[in-house]
Amino acid sequence: MIPDSPVPVPVVADPATPLEWSTSAVPGRLIADDRVPSNASWSAVVAAGDVLTIVDVGGNQSADFLVYDAHDTAHRYSAPETLVAQGNAYLREGSVLLSNESLPLMTVLVNEIDRHDTIGGACSKESNTLRYGHHVAFQHACRENFLTEGAAHGLGARDIVSNINWFMNVPVEADGSLGIVDGMSAPGKRVALRAERDVLVIVSNCPQMNNPCNGFNPTPLHMITVDPRQATGIEETTP
Ligand SMILES: [Zn+2]
Repeated sequence: MIPDSPVPVPVVADPATPLEWSTSAVPGRLIADDRVPSNASWSAVVAAGDVLTIVDVGGNQSADFLVYDAHDTAHRYSAPETLVAQGNAYLREGSVLLSNESLPLMTVLVNEIDRHDTIGGACSKESNTLRYGHHVAFQHACRENFLTEGAAHGLGARDIVSNINWFMNVPVEADGSLGIVDGMSAPGKRVALRAERDVLVIVSNCPQMNNPCNGFNPTPLHMITVDPRQATGIEETTP
């Protein structure tokens, strides 16, 4: 039970899962503090210079993530531009999330796990059916979350581009093959992103239960935005 939670207490597949809500990874004046229940979607505009911390509250939970220029959503995240510019397949501290015009949208300021994925894509009921069988066609998936949350900002199916999977482990093997495996993150681990312009962020708290990307136990996320230019110490977020 989470006391004084601003949202309904999340339902996790295993109620014995330890949850570590953590705090902002950088000091600053608190702008927003949202708890995203397991399986749910979330979105917000993060102003230029503000820092968004994403907390993997229960561990091994993929935060499927899209980011757009808040003032022109046709200007949006590009996985290939980002990977080519940094010359590496993984997102780590210092990675700059580039747009389809090769302009910076956000920068990874703090990273508490080794690496994050931007190759594996988002789950959908269509891909679930192909991979796991027609009996899973009813399951909620990230694409449905992106479409639902995007609709609130005037976005449709053609605006859902290749995404980032924070806390998801997709190793590129020596022979070039991709895996989706468990075991990189842990409860309370964080990644913090500085907005390089005003950006719209859309997140799907991945509901996938058919592969290990969420440890077969979808858990909540904690989204904390601060203005580090008004830092007086790390403010306490809700308990
Ligand atoms: Zn998913």
